[in-house]
Amino acid sequence: MLQRIFIANRGEIALRIARTVRRLGLQALGGFSSVDGGLPHLRLCARAMPLLGDPARVYLDIDQLIDTARSLGADAVHPGYGFLAENEDFASAVESAGMAFIGPTPDQIVALGDKVQARKAAERAGVPIVPGHSETIADVKTAQDIAARIGYPVLIKAAGGGGGRGMRIVDAAENLPDALARAQSEAKASFNDDRVFIEKYIARARHVEIQVLGDGRGNAVSLGERECSVQRRHQKLIEESPAPAVPPEVATRMGVLAAALAASVKYRGAGTMEFIVPFGGTDFYFIEMNTRLQVEHPVTELMTGLDLVEEQLAIASGAGFSKAAASAKISGHAIEARVIAENPYAGFQPSIGALNVVQFPAGPGIRVDSWAEPGLAVSPHYDSLLAKILAWGPTREVAIARLRGALNETLIHPVQTTAGFLAEFISGADFSSGHYDTGTIERWRAPDGENLPAELAALAEAEKLSRQGSTSGALPRQRARPMGRWQQSN
Ligand code: ADP
Ligand code: ADP
Ligand code: MG
Repeated sequence: MLQRIFIANRGEIALRIARTVRRLGLQALGGFSSVDGGLPHLRLCARAMPLLGDPARVYLDIDQLIDTARSLGADAVHPGYGFLAENEDFASAVESAGMAFIGPTPDQIVALGDKVQARKAAERAGVPIVPGHSETIADVKTAQDIAARIGYPVLIKAAGGGGGRGMRIVDAAENLPDALARAQSEAKASFNDDRVFIEKYIARARHVEIQVLGDGRGNAVSLGERECSVQRRHQKLIEESPAPAVPPEVATRMGVLAAALAASVKYRGAGTMEFIVPFGGTDFYFIEMNTRLQVEHPVTELMTGLDLVEEQLAIASGAGFSKAAASAKISGHAIEARVIAENPYAGFQPSIGALNVVQFPAGPGIRVDSWAEPGLAVSPHYDSLLAKILAWGPTREVAIARLRGALNETLIHPVQTTAGFLAEFISGADFSSGHYDTGTIERWRAPDGENLPAELAALAEAEKLSRQGSTSGALPRQRARPMGRWQQSN
């Protein structure tokens, strides 16, 4: 059994991992950047060492992380999410140094972490994928042929993309050359990998994903779905389970297929299969697999009563997932809200600096995963997630009411956060009806287009012009037009 677990991460997920490691009677070990010495997970670590150098880079410094883990005597490394969690070089380096990587094998990271390879694996396992082309595309001519075949609008995506970055919507052939060039250069800059591919852009879509566990020997289970369509800039703000607009038999079928895909590659560890569900139908299409623990994994923990980090440790030690996981049932309803250090009323601009006041909610069915404490600060070096606030209830209505109370009770000052905004959003008709899609937040908050991500703002602008008669071309009105329903009721 693994005994000493080095946590190659920071923030809320490092604390989340350290808690389970301690509860199981194992030792947590840490490494921290020059600005992170005060993070609370370090107080749960048996030992921790500083990581030297640029604080923005140290959690990506494979050599230094391996050296640190070894000098602390670690026998396993947990990568958390983000940073090196889906990096095959890191997984290989951990294993070459004689430690267990708490995650899939390096080969599985290569085969499934790459969106194009994952499309192919899904196709082979009989899982439906988004209409598109399962090869990377380098030249404009090929791109235009494929886009014409798929039909506009199309989405250019980075094969190595993640975190909602590296995607471009293209609404017409004449815009393709420019979009392709930009997508390639963005992908190169963000992921050091300029390979892109093209799939159909599904204008009104829901994002529904399935949590899976694989034992590495060809056994896999799925643990229910999470609906993640409340997004801004392709990044999730709210996740819930069960998915309100997915019929239970459809969700069950997604679960069966997701587990089949994981089993077909002898997947080892926790992972998530993400699907796009066109609004209003019963079709679903695989979009990607995340070969790691996901930010929103506590939703599944509330629904199943499992501890997914404990499952990861059991799988990494060779014991496989638990009997409880193999026979897990879901009950009630769970919702997570991401409290992010951004101003939602000013285009989700980052808000950084000292945290003077930090007060979190508690109560029946409430869970808070956070690193934030008074005296610490939100640094520009790292992602802006301050806290995940979750509510479980026997029904969706109870879960919403509990989450609203919890978000309204959350006090963070002077850094601005999404807490109040999300409390308002879940109180409105768009959310309570369950009829939301991945564009709802952007339509809702951005009557002038000013809060929209660049490519949507451009579409909104073009649409405005076309209404004034100064340009032609059919634009996806639905997508860019503000609905304003909820704003009026405020
Ligand atoms: P996905 O890749 O499907 O978005 P996650 O939501 O688990 O999966 O997030 C993956 C990575 O992106 C993590 O490193 C996380 O810190 C970062 N991230 C996710 N959501 C946000 C957000 N709203 N703002 C900033 N960073 C985010
Ligand atoms: P990432 O690795 O950045 O998480 P994903 O492929 O999971 O990339 O896409 C992120 C988000 O972008 C999805 O949750 C969804 O909102 C949107 N998206 C992705 N593919 C499509 C598509 N084909 N049509 C419409 N929206 C999409
Ligand atoms: Mg994704």
